[in-house]
Amino acid sequence: TPPAERYEYQAEVSRLMDLIVNSLYSNKEVFLRELISNASDALDKLRFLSVTQPDLLKGGVDLDIRIQTDKENGIVTITDTGIGMTQQELVDCLGTIAQSGTAKFLKALKDSKDAGGDNNLIGQFGVGFYSAFLVCDRVVVSTKSPKSDKQYVWEGEANASSYTIREETDPEKLLPRGTCLTLHLKRDDKGFAHPERIQKLVKNYSQFVSFPIYTWQEKGFTKEVEVDEDPAETKKDGQDEQPEKKKKTKTVVEKYWDWELTNETQPIWLRNPKEVTTEEYNEFYKITFNEYLDPLASSHFTTEGEVEFRSILYVPAIAPMGKDDIVNPKTKNIRLYVKRVFISDDFDGELFPRYLSFVKGVVDSNDLPLNVSREILQESRIVRIMRKRLVRKAFDMILGISMSENKDDYDKFWENFGKHLKLGCIEDRENHKRIAPLLRFFSSQSVDELISLDEYVENMKPEQKDIYYMAADSVTSARNTPFLERLLEKDLEVLFLVDPIDEVAIQNLKAYKEKNFVDISKEDLDLGDKNEEKDKEIKQEFGQTCDWIKKRLGDKVASVQISNRLSSSPCVLVSGKFGWSANMERLMKAQTA
Ligand code: ADP
Ligand code: MG
Repeated sequence: TPPAERYEYQAEVSRLMDLIVNSLYSNKEVFLRELISNASDALDKLRFLSVTQPDLLKGGVDLDIRIQTDKENGIVTITDTGIGMTQQELVDCLGTIAQSGTAKFLKALKDSKDAGGDNNLIGQFGVGFYSAFLVCDRVVVSTKSPKSDKQYVWEGEANASSYTIREETDPEKLLPRGTCLTLHLKRDDKGFAHPERIQKLVKNYSQFVSFPIYTWQEKGFTKEVEVDEDPAETKKDGQDEQPEKKKKTKTVVEKYWDWELTNETQPIWLRNPKEVTTEEYNEFYKITFNEYLDPLASSHFTTEGEVEFRSILYVPAIAPMGKDDIVNPKTKNIRLYVKRVFISDDFDGELFPRYLSFVKGVVDSNDLPLNVSREILQESRIVRIMRKRLVRKAFDMILGISMSENKDDYDKFWENFGKHLKLGCIEDRENHKRIAPLLRFFSSQSVDELISLDEYVENMKPEQKDIYYMAADSVTSARNTPFLERLLEKDLEVLFLVDPIDEVAIQNLKAYKEKNFVDISKEDLDLGDKNEEKDKEIKQEFGQTCDWIKKRLGDKVASVQISNRLSSSPCVLVSGKFGWSANMERLMKAQTA
């Protein structure tokens, strides 16, 4: 037997294990969810690879997860027939942190610390494999990858800085394929080694795992057995003759152990939307995307006709942490299935434009080939049609939030994803009609509460033709600008664009409901009240004054003109019709600084 080799954990792993054990102790049972989700991921990987490499399935074992408990010894074993791990993969996966869930968790923890937050974040993320040490003294992972002839055993103990790997030599423990975890429970946690307890947890946590999960359960059945009647009764009179044996039937309970299917394996998106509760949708969302807050909205639909697919989409309650997310479309937010087989969650704008990349969900298509590749996705007409429908559904869902009775919901949405929609104004001309009604701004008549463009239009004066806006760095400075004076006097509402991206977004929209957006800080602002006679008079009277000022200022200004837009301020600096607005100029300066 080759000896076990000892390896040190990467420093982060030790730190992570400490954190997990110290912060999650009141929520220990999450270990089971994490380990089942790893088993399910391993089965997904195998099923996906087997599409192009059917050899991987040889041995003919089913794709499932089996959990067995040993009450006496306080042991739980979890066995899957998934992709397994090679020796190197054991080192890479269980000795270092390079993996998604855990990496994300650590980053979130760091971000929250940087932001002065506390450690409450833990428990909100998938903490992964190491959560086993919440309840275990010792964990043994025996695993067989189809890529290797040999099976390897990883063994680690709680509070240790190293682990061992050896080859599996016990013929009784050889697996056809996959991974078997043996969990040696801590003394106080041996209660997890009860079949009913495990069954309950599986039902709770893993109802959306799409592979069958079997638990080892004690069962009983009743049976009628024939027994001899008591001979004492029949042998009354001391006769020598053997009495004829009388038979009697009796009911006995026969006990035995067997595997019992413990989860519902039909994917939730295949169920009839009428029969799925909001709680079930939310639970599925939280489990699938490692989220801790319920989504703001969800939408479950089937499309038929040219392209058929089923989907459940969600709008998250908060934007992911990290500022770069708005321009990062690679969010793993959409899980694509083909005929129920998980294909990929690694998209780069194929299914949603980047400004909608915050939408999460699953999409299951019957029309794509199982071995669909990135290239196929990018070229596919089917995918283009799917994308169109998905985008439409996403907008319906967002519109739904905006019409919800609970006003808070849309406020939350806007706070988190308003920027994304503004980016949509710039990047997705085709959907301007869908985006515009969802936009919100402050205005001269609503400085505390955001209004929609519809509200603005409703509030327009009968003779008013345009939608007025003023870009500034804050509501306060917008309010104090001299440009507003005449408009306020005439009781015309002006949108305050105070987010740097607002002005570009509005300029891209150009108009809403056939009303043009007009920047009140540009020259030539026409409020529809021109009086030619009077203008001429004033020009004659003050023309020379203008010339004089222009001479004094020289190149500092393009021109000096008489204007009718002020009421109490003597003068104002305006931008040329075709130039940048003062706000834009400020932004450009900030960018090059
Ligand atoms: P995550 O699941 O987020 O990647 P985990 O800590 O849960 O992080 O798991 C780390 C890695 O260990 C997984 O990405 C996977 O490569 C490997 N792994 C864990 N459990 C199994 C398993 N049952 N079968 C195959 N690989 C596994
Ligand atoms: Mg995991």
